[in-house]
Amino acid sequence: MSMNAAGSRLKQGGGVIDRYREFLPVSNSTPIVSLGEGNTPLVYSAKLSARIGRGCEVFVKNEGVNPTGSFKDRGMTVAVSKAIERGARTLICASTGNTSASAAAYAARAGIECTVILPAGKIASGKLLQAFVHGAKIIAIDGNFDDALRIVRKLGQRESLVIVNSINPDRIAGQKTAAFEIADLLGDAPDFHLLPLGNAGNLTAYWAGYREYQGNGRSKRLPAMFGFQAAGAAPIFHDKIIERPETIASAIRIGNPASWRQARAAIDQSKGVVDLVTDEQIIEAQIWLAQHEGIFVEPASAAAIAGLFKCCNAKDAAYSFQKIPEESRIVCTVTGHGLKDPDALTARMGKITSVAANEEDVLRALGL
Ligand SMILES: *Cc1c(COP(=O)(O)O)cnc(C)c1O
Repeated sequence: MSMNAAGSRLKQGGGVIDRYREFLPVSNSTPIVSLGEGNTPLVYSAKLSARIGRGCEVFVKNEGVNPTGSFKDRGMTVAVSKAIERGARTLICASTGNTSASAAAYAARAGIECTVILPAGKIASGKLLQAFVHGAKIIAIDGNFDDALRIVRKLGQRESLVIVNSINPDRIAGQKTAAFEIADLLGDAPDFHLLPLGNAGNLTAYWAGYREYQGNGRSKRLPAMFGFQAAGAAPIFHDKIIERPETIASAIRIGNPASWRQARAAIDQSKGVVDLVTDEQIIEAQIWLAQHEGIFVEPASAAAIAGLFKCCNAKDAAYSFQKIPEESRIVCTVTGHGLKDPDALTARMGKITSVAANEEDVLRALGL
């Protein structure tokens, strides 16, 4: 590639709009705001596959590898590009942390303002730091995420502010590209797709992506969509609004999901299920994935892995993999990077005591 060709490709950002433009609501006159998001690893896991057995293959779609460390970047590149095209000067969002981190970064890239409305004291420290370092205006409210989104919906009626939560359809459009990448790599859609369920925009987006690809003849299958909520924040599972959602998995600490209806329809149409996992199961799965596959994800992301384990074993699970066909393909999306939320695990690490700086003491400490 000549310098100029490479240069112009890099100016397009080399991200999901560049690769899947024909499926996205952009035109040649849309100014593309990209940080090179997407194209994340789809990691085959022999150990997860063995847990299910019967020739099944499990892949982990590692969305923590995106520019700001979560899948939110896929939707944000489209939402911010469209906002710029419409002449926006300020983005606004409610967030449990990752939407604000992503919005702040893409706003900085675009050279516009970003205001984030956050539940006070409830944001993982890494995510809060991201909003700060990218220069967002941070407003903390004495309420939860659902309160923050209610306020943002109202403020978004002002012409100067563009909402970049997943109620913005451009976000969902961008997030579909993860389904495209999976189908492109596997040669078809998987048989099952597992992911955590918070505001339920991502499950909605994956389903839309798989359907669109099938409709265009790019893939044949449609996966069964499995969504996992935290036990203390499971409105879709219980079919009722949870007033005070509680879970260690802050990214899915949501009591009244914005895409509730769409996600429910996707789960039903795809013959999937919604189930819940406890905080203990989430942390156990988070540590398991870190120690067996070298993939460090935040607690919300581990809900997908905890859900896979639940489907493997439990009689009380909404679905048991004991009845899945041999040689099925299963994809679990892990949505965000573990470094965003160090506090979830540091308490478990315990105190590390030092020894004298010599070989003998180190050997003794090692028990050798
Ligand atoms: C946003 C987010 C979720 C939840 O996705 P929804 O689209 O709200 O269901 C899960 N995990 C992480 C890391 C997130 O940032």
